[in-house]
Amino acid sequence: MPARAPEMIAASNFDEIAAQPPDFARLQAQYDTIADRLESAQTAAEGVRAFEEWDVLRRGFATWAALAELQFQRDTADAEYKAGVDLLNELRPKIEGLDVAMKRRFLRSPLREPLESALGEYLFARWETDVTAYDPVVEAFAVEESTLQDDYTALVAAAQIPFRGEALNLSLLGRYMEDPDRETRREATVAKWRFFEERAGEIDRIFDGLVRVRDRMANELDFSNFTELAYRRLARTDYGAAEVALWREEIQREIVPLAERIVQRQARDLGIERVMLWDEKVFSKTGTPKPPQQYGAMVAAGRESYNALGPELGSFAGMMFDRELVDLQSRKNKASAGFCTAFPEYGLPYVFANFNGTTHDVNVLVHEFGHAFQTYSSRNQPALEYLWPTYEACEIHSMSMEFFMWPQLERFFGDKAQQYRIEHLTSTIAVLPYAAAVDHFQHLVYEHPEASPEQRHGFWRQVEAAYLPWRRYDGVPHLERGAFWHQQRHIFIVPFYYIDYTLAACCALQFWIRSLDDYEGALTEYKQLCARGGTLPFQSLVRSAGLQSPFEAGVLRGAAQRAAAMIGV
Ligand code: ZN
Repeated sequence: MPARAPEMIAASNFDEIAAQPPDFARLQAQYDTIADRLESAQTAAEGVRAFEEWDVLRRGFATWAALAELQFQRDTADAEYKAGVDLLNELRPKIEGLDVAMKRRFLRSPLREPLESALGEYLFARWETDVTAYDPVVEAFAVEESTLQDDYTALVAAAQIPFRGEALNLSLLGRYMEDPDRETRREATVAKWRFFEERAGEIDRIFDGLVRVRDRMANELDFSNFTELAYRRLARTDYGAAEVALWREEIQREIVPLAERIVQRQARDLGIERVMLWDEKVFSKTGTPKPPQQYGAMVAAGRESYNALGPELGSFAGMMFDRELVDLQSRKNKASAGFCTAFPEYGLPYVFANFNGTTHDVNVLVHEFGHAFQTYSSRNQPALEYLWPTYEACEIHSMSMEFFMWPQLERFFGDKAQQYRIEHLTSTIAVLPYAAAVDHFQHLVYEHPEASPEQRHGFWRQVEAAYLPWRRYDGVPHLERGAFWHQQRHIFIVPFYYIDYTLAACCALQFWIRSLDDYEGALTEYKQLCARGGTLPFQSLVRSAGLQSPFEAGVLRGAAQRAAAMIGV
């Protein structure tokens, strides 16, 4: 159904919309009416109408929920916004309960077959997955989980880290961690980890609570452990933990040795004996290329770049800036996250980030805008589920956009654009082993829910040795203990999500190779994939764009060879 006119939402009326939370009793009555309508439906058209009414309610709640969360992230110290997310945490499981009940009604409807033809078989497959991942018996656990997640978000957002006479949040400190001066990078890294060390007890308490509550939820729902439940929550319908284990092996085989060669080469380029943790993101003595430091110049370069990619992408990016559907500048009490969210009632996305003057800022304008463009392209798909695909497919859109932007990079980096391209390719490769480590770590954690914080640190050291054998951080006690994962937000907020970046990277690298050979053709294929939204499961979406699934053996070999040639290792 068509989304509401875009004119109706902009930064100026967020507070107004956020201040109108849904009334649960009223919503419940509306769900009852829709349920009656579905029960008494005689034709598929009547069933579809019932579905459409439900979808309108879902889009409305999703919009309010996105705004409540966004406003809190924009100012984590504001009591009203905090009350908004508290209310959301309370409402979300209840409304999920209503939605699951409705999904069950559709799944067992006598009209299911014609409804499947009208709305898509995959929608019903998604619902089959959703209904097994939810039951009212876990409602209280879900509330507890959300509260712990918010504790972690607030703890990290509140960071005021003393550094050379200033108090910096993590995002601003990040700038010094990539400084061309090695000692500055080391000091900034040490300062960051001192912050985490000082709060280690609190972070371990939060995570311990999360592991326990997640494990109990899985038990209540009759899963053998939380891993299985987490895969369902991520709506992974066409692969499981076994495929992901094979995929990690592919990374270990094809990428870890390449990454090791890259690190050795990096040491030579930097003129140092060995690459330490604080050197990993720096590839040349003169430092990482810097984008324009003025916000206005960044926005101008962003607009021009998208215009150069054609009228469709140009007008999309223009709309994002003109309607202030972005919050990109860092400030006190703003959450340190970077993400894209959306208001499905209006068919509009929103991009949130904290510019810090590094390449990260360009990445936001490219990566998060890739997400935003996709969900905007699929805004008129007929079901909420279809607006975004599952996470791993979502990252294809964002990471591929990073490669489609390659010809425009002079606008941001001038004569350092080529250096940026090589560093971008290198870091795309480098993320694969790290993400495999984060994924493997979580599998170990939830296979052993009884483990102590010290044992969990042991799990981290174990995966670090397997996937990141080159990593050194002498003199940072918190890391020597095995607590690097304390900084990885996804582990706390969206368990098992992180591997999705690698599944997507595998596809983005394929788009990269195609764009080098036939740019226009690849971009057209990409835009078509974006418009398909979430109408298909991951592997089907991948194949619909003519790409190879990451679970096909040897899928990384070609990309690894081409990347090695370009990087020169
Ligand atoms: Zn992303």
